[in-house]
Amino acid sequence: DPRLRGISEAIRVVPDFPKPGIMFQDITTLLLDRKAFKDSVDIFVDRYRDMNISVVAGVEARGFMFGPPIALAIGAKFVPLRKPKKLPGEVISENYVLEYGTDCLEMHVGAVQPGERALVIDDLVATGGTLSAAINLLERVGADVVECACVIGLPKIKEERRLNGKPLYILVEPR
Ligand code: IMP
Repeated sequence: DPRLRGISEAIRVVPDFPKPGIMFQDITTLLLDRKAFKDSVDIFVDRYRDMNISVVAGVEARGFMFGPPIALAIGAKFVPLRKPKKLPGEVISENYVLEYGTDCLEMHVGAVQPGERALVIDDLVATGGTLSAAINLLERVGADVVECACVIGLPKIKEERRLNGKPLYILVEPR
């Protein structure tokens, strides 16, 4: 797809952020490029519009930037998966392991019904730990996770194209 090159080039790479040695993939510059931003949303929308998806679940915080435009375009609802203690209602929580320490995602009880077909969106997948926690939250309430989608994926995970047995769809690799 010729649009992928423009998307890749619109992502800024910031060395040593937030810590020395990390090459941070910054999608805020993609959001500033209206063609690249629209192209990335369009590619997801074309892929998911006829897959009977009723839930787009976005991972805090950058999944909140791509999830809602996709949800609106495919006629799905949007469900935020948030960091702990942000959601005001009753939640279910899923802890997951990071390189250093642990983290947690939460989802409102009642946001997703059993049998609903869900798509999970985030900006970037590295180890897949975050997306696995998102899949677990949705499966615990009986949803069917159709696929996970990210703008950026490391080459290894892009090759494998699966996560917890679920398909994984990636637009570009980090530069
Ligand atoms: P994983 O759980 O190891 O797959 O890491 C993915 C999570 O870390 C996602 O929520 C990303 O938003 C975040 N993340 C890791 N590295 C970067 C980066 O370079 N840019 C933006 N987000 C990142």
